[in-house]
Amino acid sequence: MAIAGDDCGPAVYTLDGTRREDLCCDVCTGVEMNPAIEVSDLRYAYPDGKQALQGVSFSVAEGECIGIIGPNGSGKSTLLLHLNGVLPERVAEEPAVRVSGIQLSPGTLHDIRRRVGLLFQDPDDQLFCPTVYEDVAFGPKQFGCPEEKVRGIVAETLQKVGLKGFGDRSPHHLSGGEKQRVCLAGILACNPDVLALDEPTNNLDPRGRRELKVLLMSIPATKIIASHDLELIVALCSRTVIMDAGLIVAEGPTIDLLSNEQLMIDHGLEKPHSLQHRHPHEPQPIVNSQKSMDN
Ligand code: ADP
Ligand code: MG
Repeated sequence: MAIAGDDCGPAVYTLDGTRREDLCCDVCTGVEMNPAIEVSDLRYAYPDGKQALQGVSFSVAEGECIGIIGPNGSGKSTLLLHLNGVLPERVAEEPAVRVSGIQLSPGTLHDIRRRVGLLFQDPDDQLFCPTVYEDVAFGPKQFGCPEEKVRGIVAETLQKVGLKGFGDRSPHHLSGGEKQRVCLAGILACNPDVLALDEPTNNLDPRGRRELKVLLMSIPATKIIASHDLELIVALCSRTVIMDAGLIVAEGPTIDLLSNEQLMIDHGLEKPHSLQHRHPHEPQPIVNSQKSMDN
């Protein structure tokens, strides 16, 4: 397996599997297009000192759907929490995140939260209202939508996620999968430009997963999906990044990355079933030799 050893960041591949040195730098700095999301050298330590992100850089083009995979504790959730400013607790002087060119700062936080809808890994972190209706209505109301319009939006989004008629139920008395759908409805109700979804199929049964896949395919927003559900990643994401120990360790076309058995095993993953029978002579991706954590 070839090793790419520059300082530019993760390896980037063209569709035929060859490495693009020039594209690598473009992706790092986001100069090729107007990126929906740009993250540069994002580092974050939790208050207890745990260094969860050690210098993460990537960008996502408008309308792109990218996957973020990696073993437990690799920093996927921490990264997503930075995309709409849930973290860091206090915005740094030189913020590492830009959304549609807007740098995250206290003054832009409201705007950025409107642009980026974040689905938390644990629905209980997201649901706080006494009824499903109020939870889904919360975002649109916050963004100034009149009550009459909000009613229509809530009905429409609950139908989209398969929860028609759930408006009066208490979110806390729902199953895990139903809670997940309420959270998604709450995000879709705000019609964000970017969907940042943390383990969106976690609590869903197989039918729920299929329905979610179809729903997400129908939404033109930019999508960033962190998931252990690699079949979902294969179905939806043209590009994937692999994280390990707070770093991006590889990046490229999803099929190339996920069919590289050794790469997957090295990072606590496994080749998804749908790629098990891929032709062995198809191009293999190159792995980045980025340093791993010191601690
Ligand atoms: P992933 O989503 O990839 O499983 P996380 O982003 O949740 O990873 O966690 C990254 C690292 O940060 C892990 O080592 C985890 O234990 C740690 N971590 C997560 N949340 C906290 C927290 N609130 N306080 C301290 N450490 C945390
Ligand atoms: Mg997580």
